[in-house]
Amino acid sequence: MLEERSGLTLLDVVLPLPIPGPLTYTLGPEMDLPPRGTRVVVPVGRRNMVGVAWDEVESVPDGVELKAVVRVLDASPLLPKSILDLVSWASSYYFYPLGMAVSEILPPGLLSARNKGIAKILSGRGGRGAAEPCKASWEEGSRELVLTGCQAEALSRVSEVLSSRTFGTILLHGVTGSGKTEVYLRAAEKALAQGRQVLIMVPEISMTAQTLGRVTSRFGSRVTVLHSGLTDAQRREQWMRVRRGDSSLVVGTRSAVFAPLEDIGLIVVDEEHDSSYKQDARFRYNARDLSVYRGRYHNAAVILGSATPSVTSYWNARSGRYRLVEMPRRVSRSMLPLVQIVDRREGKICRTRGDPPRPPWLSIELMEAMRETLDRGRQVLLFLNRRGFAGHVFCPECGHVFRCKNCEVALTYHKKGADIPGEGLLCHYCGYRVPALPLCPKCQGQSVRASGFGTERIEEDVARLFPGVVTARLDRDTATTPGRLRGVLEAFHKGRIQVMVGTQMVSKGHDFPGLTLVGVVWADLSLNQPEFHAAERTFQLLMQVAGRAGRRDHPGRVIVQTHLPDHYALRCVAANDYQGLFQHELSLRRSLAYPPFGRLIRILFSGSSRSMVLQAADVLAGAAREACRGRPGKDGVQVLGPAEAPVFKIRGRYRYQFLLKSSSIRSLRRVCAAVSCRAGGVLGRAVRMEIDVDPYSLT
Ligand code: ADP
Ligand code: ZN
Repeated sequence: MLEERSGLTLLDVVLPLPIPGPLTYTLGPEMDLPPRGTRVVVPVGRRNMVGVAWDEVESVPDGVELKAVVRVLDASPLLPKSILDLVSWASSYYFYPLGMAVSEILPPGLLSARNKGIAKILSGRGGRGAAEPCKASWEEGSRELVLTGCQAEALSRVSEVLSSRTFGTILLHGVTGSGKTEVYLRAAEKALAQGRQVLIMVPEISMTAQTLGRVTSRFGSRVTVLHSGLTDAQRREQWMRVRRGDSSLVVGTRSAVFAPLEDIGLIVVDEEHDSSYKQDARFRYNARDLSVYRGRYHNAAVILGSATPSVTSYWNARSGRYRLVEMPRRVSRSMLPLVQIVDRREGKICRTRGDPPRPPWLSIELMEAMRETLDRGRQVLLFLNRRGFAGHVFCPECGHVFRCKNCEVALTYHKKGADIPGEGLLCHYCGYRVPALPLCPKCQGQSVRASGFGTERIEEDVARLFPGVVTARLDRDTATTPGRLRGVLEAFHKGRIQVMVGTQMVSKGHDFPGLTLVGVVWADLSLNQPEFHAAERTFQLLMQVAGRAGRRDHPGRVIVQTHLPDHYALRCVAANDYQGLFQHELSLRRSLAYPPFGRLIRILFSGSSRSMVLQAADVLAGAAREACRGRPGKDGVQVLGPAEAPVFKIRGRYRYQFLLKSSSIRSLRRVCAAVSCRAGGVLGRAVRMEIDVDPYSLT
């Protein structure tokens, strides 16, 4: 029986709670129905919460007791319709509760009942956030750069889409230094000239200072920057500035895809292959994919730009879903760097008598190249994606490996470090640390030893091998603040540092005039990751690092050290062969039905009781198999697992997972919905389930 509460208006309200849908409230006769997207205060249990008004509802099931809306907070909706539509679509696509999704895409504090400053910011009396007059001088900024043929071609393809005011996605595949950023900026000028807005997405703000500088110098006060490095108050202010329409161009990281722009003409996703577009906790959306969705919604042009497009995007371009524009040459005509692969397998290492002793991570080839480069007054970058001094610490007498007590991972030995005052062992997952021990805790052995190497050790060895040379290290231990990061980058840029050692932090976007030698210390580290895209990712990473070398008048050189010299990903790096990598990956993915040929959903279970986690995973994998029954063939869904997650325990929580795989996203979603439905009755409080649609990492 349905009941209509006569005289009372019923309103659905979305609340930041882990529940699937909205809750229904009554609206007092003195209140006007707030439009969708307006914030309201409602009672939940014994307290009041701020939620977002959704739809008016006709009736509720009989016997449901309804509470009344306490207050309507905004005179007009805080969230524009386009954002409401985007977030509800994303919440359903990624199987994430709508209210949680809404609260996570808003700047902090907008859904908290306490924050008093909001009303002021909302009404535009926020002071600093107010719009400055739009006399931005981008006309001056655009100077007299004559576009190269490739740039002109790329721009004309984008312009076609812009002029038609229909949706179209352009994949801009251009080598580093081919002038992609200039294309983005010209396209942005066009969109702004049409009176439309522009959204530029970048992977990480601190890594893209140069791009950001170019955007702001060209477009001045129209630009708003949205990223997580801002304070909460700044984020609210910037967000409201966009919401009020005081800014026509937004540059931002992942979450900027939800910027409250209302008339977008152009969306740019720079470095579209970058994994930081995928959020890998809570609301696990992919901002690159949502950009394309949003572009369709606004009839906008979407540019996905990269020197090494993701296999999926390139496949989409090849199969006609995106338009493909290739920019194979650098603007400056400087040569792409010469890449040499150095085989580090035993027996292949050639030793000459009388060689000075070398640390085990350093080949004679790399050492000589370093010496030569430094002698000429040029700079060296050494890349290794592992921080700390040594990989792990063990006792050679009993074999004991020092592990984290919360996580199923080995501890890393750090000699010093920002978060470690003295030497110590650190867990890179949870931050657990212990002082380095002279004795083995298991057998009391006295020869505890560190094995392997990290950036810290490389830096120390370089300083010893090349006395007088200024070295620096860039990783999460040294770049603890944006200021420090900038400081090191600037010093390297100006030539005050001769050798820089770094993790993937050094790989992005920087242009160092004096850098001519890049050494990849051990490429195997990323090749051996247990991920289906490990090869793709390694290729992208190495191409990006290699692209740092020799961007000006001096040709660059790259030396890649490896135990897998015949690996196709490395061969393709050496040959600058994106197509080769793409074809190889494509045939592998096809045979295994991995993306882009199959879609994946990962369902991850965690909790402190191993048996309860496993049991929940078992029951729900069973439910998934049940839901798959009777639909073989093309629409079929495979259930893989459950199995221990590659990192089996993190922060004291055991982790099991299973994968759903299918070539039909509809079937996949149907099965996942069935699992999600059953989950309520199975999970209880002790086990958490997370759904990861189109997962990037499987660890
Ligand atoms: P990408 O983003 O593809 O790596 P950039 O846009 O950063 O390349 O361009 C590389 C360099 O070339 C920059 O210093 C840029 O100012 C310069 N540049 C870009 N387009 C032109 C052009 N048409 N003429 C001269 N220099 C250009
Ligand atoms: Zn740990």
